[in-house]
Amino acid sequence: MPGWEMFDESEKRHVGEVMETGVMMRYGFDAKRMGRWKAREMEEAICRITGAKYALLLADGTAALTTALAALGVGAGDEVIMPPFTFVASFESIMAAGATPVIAEVDDTLCLSPESVREALTPRTRVVMPVHMCGAMANIDELKGICAEKKLFLVEDACQAFGATYRGRALGAIGDVGCYSFDFNKIVTCGEGGAIVTDSAVVYARADMYHDHGHDHKNSDRGLESHPFPGYNYRISELHAAVGCAQIAKTERFVSIHRANKRVFKDAIGAIPEVSFRKIPDPDGDSATFLTFFMPSEDIARSVAKSLKGAGVEGVFHWFDNNWHYVRNWEHFKARSFANPISSDILKGMKDYSKVKFKSDELLSRCISISMKMGWTQDEAKLSAERAAAAIKSALKG
Ligand SMILES: *Cc1c(COP(=O)(O)O)cnc(C)c1O
Repeated sequence: MPGWEMFDESEKRHVGEVMETGVMMRYGFDAKRMGRWKAREMEEAICRITGAKYALLLADGTAALTTALAALGVGAGDEVIMPPFTFVASFESIMAAGATPVIAEVDDTLCLSPESVREALTPRTRVVMPVHMCGAMANIDELKGICAEKKLFLVEDACQAFGATYRGRALGAIGDVGCYSFDFNKIVTCGEGGAIVTDSAVVYARADMYHDHGHDHKNSDRGLESHPFPGYNYRISELHAAVGCAQIAKTERFVSIHRANKRVFKDAIGAIPEVSFRKIPDPDGDSATFLTFFMPSEDIARSVAKSLKGAGVEGVFHWFDNNWHYVRNWEHFKARSFANPISSDILKGMKDYSKVKFKSDELLSRCISISMKMGWTQDEAKLSAERAAAAIKSALKG
């Protein structure tokens, strides 16, 4: 899956262009930079690909989520509804913004369940934050409907879904704000990087200031710029943006390679009667970075995962046993074991998640994902898919 599988001369060329001038910072140094603005160039590409009016490139996806919430004015006393199946960055960014994470459930899309969002609503709810997991979408129409009805912000965590669409619209460009990650393991990578997209000039301007200490970027002399409010330093460097410029130009190719490989895998594994697949509301928009399926029980899923790994299949995930992507093993969060004392506003009204029994266990315990490799030839994909199917069958025999 990761974009680094397809590094070629173009990444070196873009990075070389930055090093020729030596200007690694995205702002200022106009005379010295020879007209090279890599962060801006990548932002323009993000707007072109997603159809969003504004894009802001930042240091990483977690910073993008935190900045998105701050730009919307969400903070102390506010609740943000998130799914239990996501990367830990979801609650980290909500807490970094000073808000309270509220963990709801997933449905058979493996993304935030609209029904559970309705159940989780309180007078303090300000944001619904679905996560388009493993390259495909949530039931986004319904979630958008709830947000419109209840006057809440819809913030899409599309960190795993750059290049994916829902009925022709880019995931991330459907809600009020969308966030992407371009970290080293994502389909398009900057090494480290992230982005915010929005159609709101106000939200964009606030995010732009927040991610750079409050700089309003309206003066060529940084020292003379004004600061309507303080922020942080979540800036991306020109070197990282340069890698991203090379990578983002290959988005369409990356997605089509994933789709071709996934088709091969799905045909091989779908022939096994015990296997069922995750629901994808618009299969044509899937970025196809993973093939995700369910086994009949938790025990079978665990032995299938073991058998796949034993057979040398790479990129196998039984998320239920993973320490980073499912609430079950977020012991640190559940025990409220934080590095430093955190604001009581965050904890006020927060459930004791060590005591919550998640309905999502039923789905996640049976769920397995296999990451699609970009470097495969079609023959290699076929061989790998056949090996995976054989490993699943052998585990089913017991
Ligand atoms: C990768 C990821 C993030 C965080 O992105 P970073 O760039 O690694 O900070 C957030 N949410 C999800 C769902 C992710 O997969």
